[in-house]
Amino acid sequence: MLQLTHTDYETLRAHGEETYPHECCGVLLGRSEDGANIVHQVVRAGNTRTDSAHNRYQIAPAELIRIQRQARGLALDIVGFYHSHPDHPAQWSQTDFAEAHWLGCSYIITRVAQGKADVTNSFRLSGTSEEDKSFQDEPIEIMIKQAVASPA
Ligand SMILES: [Zn+2]
Repeated sequence: MLQLTHTDYETLRAHGEETYPHECCGVLLGRSEDGANIVHQVVRAGNTRTDSAHNRYQIAPAELIRIQRQARGLALDIVGFYHSHPDHPAQWSQTDFAEAHWLGCSYIITRVAQGKADVTNSFRLSGTSEEDKSFQDEPIEIMIKQAVASPA
């Protein structure tokens, strides 16, 4: 399961509307608890695939390192990524799968139909290695309030 606040959910969907007809992308910072990826912060990233920005996304390695450092400063981990599919279904493509390497992370895809974000889905990258990895449909739970640490 992927948990995120309503605000973060709207933020990443709005990002896709902003960059339409190009893909947007970003990173989800948070914690993994009891099998759930809990998002605490959404970080926008620039799409460096300017050659094919309508159907590809890529976060520059230097930017990813900067985001990782930001996560560490907040005592959070990278728990997922998001991107948009302008006028295409909110389903992962073969390219998305080939380029997904963060096992255990959630990959959110939002379809942006004619400039409006509609369907948003999440897929968990499961498996133990590149050889046996797979995308599993993952439910999204939207929280009204900011995630808080569960009591000890
Ligand atoms: Zn995609």
